[in-house]
Amino acid sequence: MISELDDLYQQVIIDHSKKPRNFRELAGADCKAEGYNPLCGDRVTVFVKLDNSTLKDVSFTGSGCAICTSSASLMTESLKGKTRQQADAIFHGVHDLVTGKSDAEAAAATLGKLAVFSGVRRFPIRVKCATLPWHTLNAALEQRRDVVSTE
Ligand code: ZN
Repeated sequence: MISELDDLYQQVIIDHSKKPRNFRELAGADCKAEGYNPLCGDRVTVFVKLDNSTLKDVSFTGSGCAICTSSASLMTESLKGKTRQQADAIFHGVHDLVTGKSDAEAAAATLGKLAVFSGVRRFPIRVKCATLPWHTLNAALEQRRDVVSTE
């Protein structure tokens, strides 16, 4: 489905899926959680280092499809230095974007690079690939121990 996305967005997604940023375990992470999307087979573990309520560092490991990996990569990149409250707002922005609840162009203005996932709304089965890293991040911040599943 990647080839059907807009060219510019497609390039960013391919770049991040081939060379994921912050793809490592985080030594001394304050929280971590695992996520699984059985529909696609995506697995992701998200690590967070907190400084009070600021996300000082965010990283991930795992194996997933191009959408899941690039989503996790762009997520970690966009959340560093953000507060939990800001992270939550960004998550809702991404969620509304990929589920088609928000206008793609307006979302692009507030979400920056994360807007590359706007094309995902045309592929409902891929929405879970894009949102799995975010749900897993939430679980990590809430210190949940169970594996997050999209099903
Ligand atoms: Zn996937």
